[in-house]
Amino acid sequence: MAQANIGVIGLAVMGSNLARNLASREGNSVAIFNRSYQKTETLLAEHPEAEFVASKTYAEFAASLSTPRTALIMVQAGKGTDAVIDELLGVFEPGDIIVDGGNALFTDTIRREKAVRETGINFVGAGISGGEEGALLGPSIMPGGSDESWVTLGPILKSIAAVAEGEPCVTHVGHDGAGHFVKMIHNGIEYADMQLIAEAYDLIRRGTGKTPTEISDIFTEWNKGELESYLIEITAEVLRQMDASTGRPLVDVILDQAGSKGTGVWTVQTALDLGIPVSGIAEAVFARSLSSKPAQREAAASLPGPSSQVAGDDESFIEDVRLALYASKVIAYSQGFDAIVAGAEQYGWNIEKGEIAKIWRGGCIIRARFLNRITEAYAENPGLVALVTAPFFVDVMTKTQDAWRRVVSGAAQSGIPTPAFSSSLAYYDGLRADRLPAALVQGQRDFFGAHTYKRIDKEGTFHTLWSGDR
Ligand code: NAP
Repeated sequence: MAQANIGVIGLAVMGSNLARNLASREGNSVAIFNRSYQKTETLLAEHPEAEFVASKTYAEFAASLSTPRTALIMVQAGKGTDAVIDELLGVFEPGDIIVDGGNALFTDTIRREKAVRETGINFVGAGISGGEEGALLGPSIMPGGSDESWVTLGPILKSIAAVAEGEPCVTHVGHDGAGHFVKMIHNGIEYADMQLIAEAYDLIRRGTGKTPTEISDIFTEWNKGELESYLIEITAEVLRQMDASTGRPLVDVILDQAGSKGTGVWTVQTALDLGIPVSGIAEAVFARSLSSKPAQREAAASLPGPSSQVAGDDESFIEDVRLALYASKVIAYSQGFDAIVAGAEQYGWNIEKGEIAKIWRGGCIIRARFLNRITEAYAENPGLVALVTAPFFVDVMTKTQDAWRRVVSGAAQSGIPTPAFSSSLAYYDGLRADRLPAALVQGQRDFFGAHTYKRIDKEGTFHTLWSGDR
């Protein structure tokens, strides 16, 4: 049997596209395996040009790979991944490499890496972004795992990754679960970015009465400037789409209840554990939850709202919304990178923040022009304590903050919900405040719980015998 240098296990949409991508790159020969043989047969029949090396059993699959054997698992995350790892441990040898390219929770990846490492086999959790199309044409890849596995895996992953400005969108993110951690934060930022764009659309729609098609043109225009990104681009396309059966804009026919697969929730839960405010991401997750509560929404539909809408000049309002979107987006990324820094500290990963921004420039859902500015910011100052304080972003805030405040206050007065815009602004103002009312909170805590407090003028820990009733 011909020996392949890489194998793919799990031939549903992601696995089969990645297998085809791998096979299309010079130097790769690809072994394939799927639990039920039918998917293998279909892929073989539909893509003879890929010259896949197919197997019906795990033993055959292992025998079809050159050493060190390298297998990319693309199966249902969770139990499916554990089941495949168990099978591979029975047929692989020390030095071989098992890669989980599914959407695993990074703590599961840490657990799996530890268990697999004890057998001498390498385990790599690799975040893969870009959906079906990215898998086929070039995704952004965030692998963790050992340095040893990166030696073999690096060239293979570089061969299939997206390319941005001549560089492959893949880097060795860090050890064990670092790759899946960074992929999780990527998805969290994606949630925030999507929500912010949706709020911008809603503001323009309700604030100016423009049609989805007209707003599509506005987004197309925005995509030529500093907001240029995949998400703005596809938003313009979604808004332009008409529904064939009703003749209405499709966005008006789609039920307004947003679903999710849980990576946004993971990001927020993790950030809560790390003590990092990711308010833009959290509001995006909560906005999806609120949208998906039809009974509550129906019951609340008659609650009072503002008596009038804030009126103004359409053109300047739309420009304000663009600037508010830009400012809020900077905050979402800044918060996401704060979470990466905190995760790296907590788990002992050496993560190059600038490299992460670089590999997100192509292939992935949050690819955007301004990621270059993040790379530059960390290159200039690797110890940057908050991305938003880098000179470039200070300029952005200077340029945008007045418009941002007008949009958020106008939205509040008009009763248009902008949870991500508003919370991002509140975070920004909290971050730059000289004094925060946290001093009062400390006083309250000491009052009822003797939790003590520190003073601004003396070292030490203090407790006051408060005079009120206890
Ligand atoms: P999927 O629907 O998540 O999973 C189906 C595949 O898993 C099938 O090949 C199935 O085999 C296999 N499988 C399930 N349980 C198994 C078990 N116990 N043992 C062996 N194989 C098992 O497939 P997908 O949509 O292609 O996604 C694959 C992975 O990529 C998932 O982790 C998913 O979360 C992730 N994903 C990522 C993106 C992205 O943008 N990065 C997008 C989508 C999905 P059978 O055919 O035998 O049932």
